[in-house]
Amino acid sequence: MTSPTAPTPPSRKAGCSDGSTPIPLVDYRAQVPVSVDQSLCIEGCNLCVQVCPLDALAIDPETNKAYMHVDECWYCGPCADRCPTGAVTVNIPYLVR
Ligand code: SF4
Ligand code: SF4
Repeated sequence: MTSPTAPTPPSRKAGCSDGSTPIPLVDYRAQVPVSVDQSLCIEGCNLCVQVCPLDALAIDPETNKAYMHVDECWYCGPCADRCPTGAVTVNIPYLVR
């Protein structure tokens, strides 16, 4: 007896009935809400971590630099405002701008 197999997903290239080139589907998150330029982040500083009301930022114990450790954000901005080197970028989504 053979085991059941999952159905084959439809081809991503197929589908545009008008013959135009299909837009590729996005199946991953390219960005977190807040990105930290590791080359600009000062080791040992944690100002952005302190001012975030959501505790969304943390210091990586291996690099001693800040990064976003949860995928949640209020887009309020003090993390970027307080960063002395401009390392923090808040990627405000189009629908919130
Ligand atoms: S924008 Fe606000 S909620 Fe988001 S990481 Fe910065 S301080 Fe935290
Ligand atoms: S405020 Fe800027 S320099 Fe300080 S930890 Fe955050 S990203 Fe790094």
